[in-house]
Amino acid sequence: MNYYSLNGASPKVTFKEAAIKGQAPDKGLYFPEFLPRVEADLIRNIESLPEAEIAFRIIRPYVGAAIPEAVLFDIVSQTVNFPFPLQTVTDNIASLELFHGPTLAFKDVGARFMSRCLGYFLGDEQKEVTVLVATSGDTGGAVASGFYGVEGVNVVILYPKGRVSPVQEQQLTAMGKNIAALEVDGSFDDCQRMVKQAFTDADIHAKRFLTSANSINVARWLPQQFYYFFAYKQWKEKTGAPVVVVPSGNFGNICAGLLAKATGLPLGHFIAACNANDVVPSFLQTGNWQPQKAVATLSNAMDVGDPSNFVRIMELFDQQFPKLKDQLSAVSISDADTIATIQKVYRKTGYTLDPHGAVAYKALEDYQQTHPDAKGLFLETAHPVKFPEAVKRATGVDIEIPGSLRELMLQPKQAVAMAPDYTVFKEYLVNG
Ligand SMILES: *Cc1c(COP(=O)(O)O)cnc(C)c1O
Repeated sequence: MNYYSLNGASPKVTFKEAAIKGQAPDKGLYFPEFLPRVEADLIRNIESLPEAEIAFRIIRPYVGAAIPEAVLFDIVSQTVNFPFPLQTVTDNIASLELFHGPTLAFKDVGARFMSRCLGYFLGDEQKEVTVLVATSGDTGGAVASGFYGVEGVNVVILYPKGRVSPVQEQQLTAMGKNIAALEVDGSFDDCQRMVKQAFTDADIHAKRFLTSANSINVARWLPQQFYYFFAYKQWKEKTGAPVVVVPSGNFGNICAGLLAKATGLPLGHFIAACNANDVVPSFLQTGNWQPQKAVATLSNAMDVGDPSNFVRIMELFDQQFPKLKDQLSAVSISDADTIATIQKVYRKTGYTLDPHGAVAYKALEDYQQTHPDAKGLFLETAHPVKFPEAVKRATGVDIEIPGSLRELMLQPKQAVAMAPDYTVFKEYLVNG
């Protein structure tokens, strides 16, 4: 499989080059040259197939000859070695729990897959790689955990000061070893801007070999398709395709879901559930793309004012706005509704949502008001323990920290404070 740049001014590359480079030299995102059809027997027999086999068969055409099949099978087996349960919440709503990985965030899958691919690609090269990543919350922890101790890889994580939860902050600052955290006195968009600029800076490239672990990297983006196949495997009524609601920030996850559907997975209508950062809902209404400054919300991993993966969604629909609107709707849910939803669902069903899942749940419930026969599922992308204040405010309940996190919570925080200033960041990368 080859990948082309959506900016159209860089040569095509293999999966290996796309995974190592992250972004194309013309600053475009890489996109697969053709869309492989999902094998019909995979859909037919999905209920009897193990997760690792499903994942392997989905990702294999995208990787192509870049990784031998036996190695790739090992990589996906390690990537998906935890459960992805679809839990019934009400008669017509189910929750696909994606928070059972090591950092309790759905981003674990992409980070685990990417780090293992990169480890394989760098195996016989004598160079050190710096993975640069901006995080609005969960990416940092998942990347830190995925890359921790990987030889030849240094990770530099930028996160917005005071805008990530204590558990999230601990997950990205307490690892040490090859993981460095920069606490930026600004927003996620500032962090992302600094990272993007670094990628185009020749002075830095002369000193360090940089790659990105944001969801723009194909090795992080593409394995997110697995979730949708795992959901379908557990969706009992195979005659009615479920409405799928995805809490969205940078739009990588939902783009992977739309890709899975476009290549043959029988899913219903897609809804992008956003918080107050409503660039995409406005775009679908008006047709005008108006990036904004990100505003802070309770669902902080979705505080994105200029969602970078949306260009891939446009490409998936051949840049045709009507086609896109037919398949996808997008809504913006307020913090007040987020809290009210956590509270209501907890009281009615005993199910505890995290703020991101609550945004999605509310979007699904609203959709069902106008489509009363629609059954659906939403992606529960983070464990509620990562947002203890919001959950306690809504339910009155303190959630217990799982054993796997308790030890990490006791480790000292190690972060470098930094102004949202590119020259300071550059100095750090070149000399620090
Ligand atoms: C990253 C994240 C999202 C948003 O995913 P995108 O792919 O950026 O749209 C939603 N929920 C949680 C918990 C996340 O960490």
